[in-house]
Amino acid sequence: MEILDRIEFNSVSLESVLEDLRGRSPVIHDGHLRYAEHAVRMYRERFAGEELMPVRPYWVVQHEEDKLWELYAWWRRYESDDGSVREYRRLRHGKIKGSSPGELGIAAYVAVHGRPAAWPDPWSDRFPMLRSAQQRVRRVRIVEIGLADGRVSIEFDGSLEDAENYYRQHGHPHVAKVVSAGGLSTGASCFECKQMTGCPALPRVPGILGLPSRPAPLRKVSVSDLRYYKDCPAQAHLRALHLPKESEYSDSAKLGQAVHQWIESLHRRKGHPPCIAGDMPPSEQNWTEGRWHVPDELAEIGLRMLHHHVDACPFLAESLIEYVDTEARRAFHDTAAQVVVVAKPDLLYLDDGSWVWRELKTTQKESWFHDDLLEEFPQLALGVVALARGALGGDPSGSRVEVEVLRPEGSDLHTIDPFEPDRLEKALTVLRHYAAPWREDETFEARPSRKCQWCPVSKWCASYTPQDS
Ligand SMILES: [Zn+2]
Repeated sequence: MEILDRIEFNSVSLESVLEDLRGRSPVIHDGHLRYAEHAVRMYRERFAGEELMPVRPYWVVQHEEDKLWELYAWWRRYESDDGSVREYRRLRHGKIKGSSPGELGIAAYVAVHGRPAAWPDPWSDRFPMLRSAQQRVRRVRIVEIGLADGRVSIEFDGSLEDAENYYRQHGHPHVAKVVSAGGLSTGASCFECKQMTGCPALPRVPGILGLPSRPAPLRKVSVSDLRYYKDCPAQAHLRALHLPKESEYSDSAKLGQAVHQWIESLHRRKGHPPCIAGDMPPSEQNWTEGRWHVPDELAEIGLRMLHHHVDACPFLAESLIEYVDTEARRAFHDTAAQVVVVAKPDLLYLDDGSWVWRELKTTQKESWFHDDLLEEFPQLALGVVALARGALGGDPSGSRVEVEVLRPEGSDLHTIDPFEPDRLEKALTVLRHYAAPWREDETFEARPSRKCQWCPVSKWCASYTPQDS
């Protein structure tokens, strides 16, 4: 974005912007620059010859009742000379994905009614509105471009009336859902939210990563990020920037995803009945599909794993399950380490008033690399500390972390009590071990190894040398 801004608003060439960025302090990661160059070339080639002019201010609709609501889209903005046509361009780091009707509805409305505004500084302030001429928007277009391959899709193209209708139908319900009382939820987006520091929904859990208190700029992290970091800081950094990835999943990782997805959809059923053999896919045919399609012999192994879930299903026990969250997203603000920690447990459920954090693991191996599950799967360690610190609320007495392991030959269920001092201590040690070097790191240098050949972001990494074998 910054490179495009300088090219479009300051008439600087791509080469000189890149040269300037290369000399910048703090240093911008080389992989990031490599990708940026590719992306800007794609973008400029695709939109070469367009007549619309780039617009620097944001388009913002402000609405004040008892609270201030601001509608805007951060996508790039363009308009015709006379201001009658406005266009949003959504840039995707990978391929085009499409936007939800709710997002499109808001963008279409803001394109019609938004007034020019500068970016707020600090971000917690309201958008400062700029003086502007009478608006004459008659037509709105919203396009999306995938910067990996330069493909474009037109997501919305219509008149002022079309934009208003579309907003009424799709955008307004989306806004209403977001702002409705009790609709607060936490997740990765907390990191960018203006209300973060005062938000009642975001638990403050100083020390959840096991690190000492220090003044530092706020960062966001997930346990997956930390695992990537351990392999290679550059990989973690380039992934966190959401650069396009290539062949991210091996066949056995795809199988794990397919098994997860099958079980998750069973657990979403109304009333949460326990899973039975009849819920599993029929044998003698490959049941995997789409993104998680795997060869027949692996699909067969996955089917055996699924059948072993029947003995380990969380809804089997005669428990008092009151609430089930199958797509759980949680965020915690570690106010000591200055980190928003985001988590996606496979399942969270409330059992007789106590939260249970459950993870599902699939493997064809006989044993794990580590003796201790908390070391093998650091996200369990996060679950242990979160529950021990009461970060999810509920009655702590029955809170636990459950790990369901599915193998082709059987299933195991492990339960970890977060209030066992030895387990909590271990969990904190594991998290500290992962998080301390990451929190200190400012440069995210590559750590080349044989793993580079499977790294999905190696394309952008200057330290990568392709192997022949
Ligand atoms: Zn089940």
